[in-house]
Amino acid sequence: MQDALAISCPHCGESFSLAFDASEGSAEFVIDCEVCCRPMNVTIQVNDDGEIETLDVVEE
Ligand SMILES: [Zn+2]
Repeated sequence: MQDALAISCPHCGESFSLAFDASEGSAEFVIDCEVCCRPMNVTIQVNDDGEIETLDVVEE
């Protein structure tokens, strides 16, 4: 099941949604902001119940 996560860009402060499948487990990846196109590092921790526990977005 895909969740739509609300992400805030650390560069420009704009928020947008990101599709993420929590059943795939924890993930760390780099995406480009949809607004300013700068890269950000997204870290998502998924607990044993398949729920998103923490969502961190930092400048890449
Ligand atoms: Zn941005």
